Amino acid sequence: MSQLQQSDERGKASPLGKFKGLKGIFGRKNLRWLWITLAFAGVCAISVGLGIALGGFFSDDTPPTILLFAPLDGQVCEGEIVLDFGVGDNRSKITSVVVRVDGQNYPIEQPGEGFGHFRRFNLNLDTTKLSEGFHKLEIIAQNSEGEGLVSTLSINFEVDNIVIHLSLSTDKTEIKPGHTLFALLESNETCEIIESYFDTEEVYFYPQGNNWESIMPIRAAKEPGEYQLSVKVLRVDGEEETLTRDITVVSGNFEHEYIVISAKACGEGVPQWKLDEEAQKVATTQRTRTSDQLWDGSFIIPLQGKLTSPFGTYREYSTGSLGRHLGIDIAAPEGTPILACGDGVVALAEELSLQGGCIIIDHGRGVHSEYHHLSEILVEVGQVVERGDVIGEVGATGMATGSHLHWQINIGRWVVDPFEWVEEEFIYGRGVVGE
Ligand SMILES: [Zn+2]
Repeated sequence: MSQLQQSDERGKASPLGKFKGLKGIFGRKNLRWLWITLAFAGVCAISVGLGIALGGFFSDDTPPTILLFAPLDGQVCEGEIVLDFGVGDNRSKITSVVVRVDGQNYPIEQPGEGFGHFRRFNLNLDTTKLSEGFHKLEIIAQNSEGEGLVSTLSINFEVDNIVIHLSLSTDKTEIKPGHTLFALLESNETCEIIESYFDTEEVYFYPQGNNWESIMPIRAAKEPGEYQLSVKVLRVDGEEETLTRDITVVSGNFEHEYIVISAKACGEGVPQWKLDEEAQKVATTQRTRTSDQLWDGSFIIPLQGKLTSPFGTYREYSTGSLGRHLGIDIAAPEGTPILACGDGVVALAEELSLQGGCIIIDHGRGVHSEYHHLSEILVEVGQVVERGDVIGEVGATGMATGSHLHWQINIGRWVVDPFEWVEEEFIYGRGVVGE
């Protein structure tokens, strides 16, 4: 029985028989070489297979990992802070670590040759060298794989190195009743005023940059004594702070006057509802606070003439009633032109029972000037007037004993001495002048 025959028989039974059968094709000597070739090819195939598998194991397709140990993202920072971070890579070496602040490289010790798989940094970051406000910090790490895989960690933080400083000052520490006080709240950061009082009376502050200013009346009826200006502030950091300033109110030394006047001039015969309605209308006008300051500089005296009654005098009328003189009386012949004491808008221009021919000019921010007893009203409500414009003519209408102008200045509901506004510039933005 030949090998070939055996092979034929057994070749059908198993694949091995095919190889044995090849003996006949290649011959015994050639078959040995075939085995060697196949063995070599098999090793190569395994090697290639392993190579593909191991290649994936040995190559690094993950970029470096950056870990931040101190919470910085979203934080408000001041002074020098320590940026505590680590950079690692599971297989490759870290070849470069760069820190950038707002796109600019920040000095950092550069890793040299042989830089390891992990390294921790404590970078001192001086925030006083940065501007106030928001900044972006980036940590950029690169590994040695191929051309280098790069990771970037972005951190946003806010720099706030300015210490909040608030102060309250006034142009006077001693003041007469019926005089005007200028108050300045200085702040190096923005702030809001929650409430502000002089003694028990609410006062109004207006913003001027980060600062707040108030041109406030001291009531003519205020008793001499020690009082406090108190301003409660909400700071930009959310804290509340109350600032106070002690103010001494001295005697006004107001004179006393006895005025002979007819009952008719005092409104006798005029229905009470009409007097009430007029009083309400005037009060509403006086308490209007338009937000803009319409005047500039000091006021002018609206009429040249003889001062017949100063501001604030205690008055006793021949009718028996008592009162206080709320303005200044200047006598002049009927028909003499009356000028606007400052820039503003006419808020009231009509005949009233007690004031007679009456004009009220709104100068803004609660400041109003009033002109009473006019024989002629030459302006209309809503008309814009400038300091020195002729607005009317002197008369003796309403509660008057002769031809004169009653000139009055109100800040809100309280009257102040008009002459002080001629002598001094009460304007917002001027800051504290004086003491
Ligand atoms: Zn008067």
